[in-house]
Amino acid sequence: MSDIHMQIDGKEVIAKKGDTLLEAAKRADISIPTLCYHEKLKPYGACRLCLVEAEKNGRTKLVVSCVYQAEKNLKVRTRSKKIDKIRKTLLELLLARAPDAPIIQDMAREYGAEKDRFQQQASFCVHCGLCVRYCAEVKKKNAIGFIDRGIRKEISFIPEIAARECESCKECFPLCPTSYLQAAYVLVKGLTFLPEPPDPQVDLLDQGMEQGNEKK
Ligand code: SF4
Repeated sequence: MSDIHMQIDGKEVIAKKGDTLLEAAKRADISIPTLCYHEKLKPYGACRLCLVEAEKNGRTKLVVSCVYQAEKNLKVRTRSKKIDKIRKTLLELLLARAPDAPIIQDMAREYGAEKDRFQQQASFCVHCGLCVRYCAEVKKKNAIGFIDRGIRKEISFIPEIAARECESCKECFPLCPTSYLQAAYVLVKGLTFLPEPPDPQVDLLDQGMEQGNEKK
């Protein structure tokens, strides 16, 4: 696989063909903040926190590093006044949804984001899509999806699948940056459906009783 020579924050970096800028930076131990990135999942580019400046032939543009491919002779900057200002605003918007999420608080401190700049939102879901994508791409179960659009967009468990799959899985739970997912699961389970999977012993017993009833 051919090597791609480029620069990130003034450091010579050798990326592999097909690497995104984020992956190239990781290879070089250069940290770029992310919220919706997961190495097992396809790039999603939703949180925009990983945006960087990419310069080629004297022209600079802002790009989302988790989806933008590494290119020969590209000069990338992961921090600048402009980048920091955008990240600050993005984090302030995230704080309006999830003010107590430690991962967001940590980044907010780094970029001087203010907690009360935007009106608090009713939902703690930050639309990173990690749970939805993990369930679809890794588990291949599609037990959770997005409903609605825009600011009303929310995650929602698919009852008939979740009842069967989630209790023994819960692999997506630790991926949620705000713990909203666990709360949503407990709520949905408590309020509506999610019966426990049938106990085979009890099932056999029930069948026996039913058969017994039929005989009467
Ligand atoms: S806990 Fe449920 S929603 Fe989450 S990955 Fe597992 S099956 Fe999918």
